[in-house]
Amino acid sequence: MKVDCLIVGAGPAGSLMAREMARQGHEVLVVEKKQEIGPPKRCAEGVTKHWLDDFGITPHPQCIGGRIEGAALYAPSGKKVMMEGPQMEGYVLERKVFEKWLASEAIKEGARYMVKTQALGMERSGDIWHVHIRTIEGEDVVDTPLVIGADGVESKVGRWAGLATVNKITDYHSGIQFEMAGVNADARYIHLFFGREVAPLGYAWIFPKAFSANVGLGILEKGAKMRAYDYLIKFIKDNPEMFARAQPIEINAGGVPVAHFTEMVAEGVMLIGDAAQLVNPIHGGGITRAMHSSLMAAEVAGEALKKGDVSKDMLAGYEKMWADEYGERTRKLMKLRYFLEKLEDKDFELFADILQGEDIYALTQSKIGFLVKKVVTKPALLGLAKKYLLD
Ligand SMILES: Cc1cc2nc3c(=O)[nH]c(=O)nc-3n(C[C@H](O)[C@H](O)[C@H](O)COP(=O)(O)OP(=O)(O)OC[C@H]3O[C@@H](n4cnc5c(N)ncnc54)[C@H](O)[C@@H]3O)c2cc1C
Repeated sequence: MKVDCLIVGAGPAGSLMAREMARQGHEVLVVEKKQEIGPPKRCAEGVTKHWLDDFGITPHPQCIGGRIEGAALYAPSGKKVMMEGPQMEGYVLERKVFEKWLASEAIKEGARYMVKTQALGMERSGDIWHVHIRTIEGEDVVDTPLVIGADGVESKVGRWAGLATVNKITDYHSGIQFEMAGVNADARYIHLFFGREVAPLGYAWIFPKAFSANVGLGILEKGAKMRAYDYLIKFIKDNPEMFARAQPIEINAGGVPVAHFTEMVAEGVMLIGDAAQLVNPIHGGGITRAMHSSLMAAEVAGEALKKGDVSKDMLAGYEKMWADEYGERTRKLMKLRYFLEKLEDKDFELFADILQGEDIYALTQSKIGFLVKKVVTKPALLGLAKKYLLD
């Protein structure tokens, strides 16, 4: 088989990339190792609406599990801070449907899909990659000038291309989640819970949908006294008012890469989405960033194929585009992450007193300078803020 562009992985990153490349008239093949695009979901399915609007993406109504007006944040004592406003509006997707819908949008544009087809490895001769795949009918080879690694957090494409793609273990959150029926929580909001005993160096969440809710947490192993699963069971037991009648209808687990590494391109290779570890390091959300990376990568890849030059230098335009948009922001968010990891439960209580919803939104958008002024009367926090947040 010969194609202009082979995309490994049919998650949100891979399918949006496929749509864009096919729309430009390129011959695109997407291989997905699972027999079905979508499940199992390893995701709480939350996305902010304004990002999708910015990308011109209006999900099909069947992709939407719930509509969200904002977020409720809880300190360990239960003290609540509300985040509301147009910027906070969002969806809890039905991701299994959303991924199929994105694939269908790509197929409409002419992309070819092969499910139950795994990329096994690749080697290069001249300007062509030979990618070995295992399909339902046996093994085969795809020849292509351009391979897109959209193969998620456990990506192999980057490694096959010789890129250094593995971060420190302390840069991965362990995520565990039950989709539960019978949860008693205000379905207009996502609910986020903080504290060392709740989810060390991470947070717990409830993301409500029409008749169920994603209930989960992410932790950093280095701060944990037990497994993520045990923290989730404890969280559910400790909150009978919300979970007395709740039962799991699905279990999801997965890793979240909460630090970015910089190598996103090689000769004839680009990494997008979780394969390039592009999630927001503060809240671990990766869907919209994955999709944004696809749009940027497709712009550069399209031009490169048109010119017949898919060299690393040419593809580096994508890396630059990403760095211009997210480089500085991610650097600040990493500083904020290290700062937050030093906080004790009493500090979260203090935050609940001094921060408003809009302050917390500003923090997630990497506006962190003002925090130092806010904590100026709290010596312990001021010391930490100065150490971690100022250049
Ligand atoms: C517990 C948890 C909760 C999360 N909650 C949220 C949330 O609420 N909001 C949010 O925005 N983000 C969330 N995330 C992160 C989000 O799920 C990811 O950022 C997003 O899925 C990235 O999309 P992607 O297309 O890059 O990768 P993926 O969605 O991981 O897709 C990769 C695809 O590649 C396929 N693949 C892998 N290897 C091969 C191969 N060799 N051959 C063929 N196919 C292959 C896989 O089967 C998969 O379908 C969460 C993550 C976890 C673990």
